[in-house]
Amino acid sequence: MRLALLIIVLAVVSCSTCGMPQVRAKSMEAHAVEIVWRGVYRMTASAPSVIWVCNHCPGSGYEGICNIEFNGGCYGGLSFWRHNVAMVNDNWPYARNSFSHELLHSVLVIKYGDPDAEHSRKEWKTLLPAAQEALEEAGL
Ligand SMILES: [Zn+2]
Repeated sequence: MRLALLIIVLAVVSCSTCGMPQVRAKSMEAHAVEIVWRGVYRMTASAPSVIWVCNHCPGSGYEGICNIEFNGGCYGGLSFWRHNVAMVNDNWPYARNSFSHELLHSVLVIKYGDPDAEHSRKEWKTLLPAAQEALEEAGL
């Protein structure tokens, strides 16, 4: 898992000038993980590694803000749950970007063996708002 992550990060970093995602570091990430993953989601397993990305996808309707360009698509967040990696766009504070959303996909994989790509499980209406509220309260 660590090797796969390293390879992904190296591939992303080494290709930052050729249209691949631009990777950023984001401060307070460990604190945000603690609040959401351990606190609200009550997870004891390792949290997914988060990769912060800032691409500008032309023609996406979201010009001027960071997104994730991947395989011809334009996303606010992506989870690679087999590798326990989440990519999140780096636009807004934690409470307002897709950080909690992508981590919740990982929670669902651990709980049910499926990331619930359709977002139909009850956790999207219960845990996700609670996570975003907790981040907001923490000033993140
Ligand atoms: Zn989703």
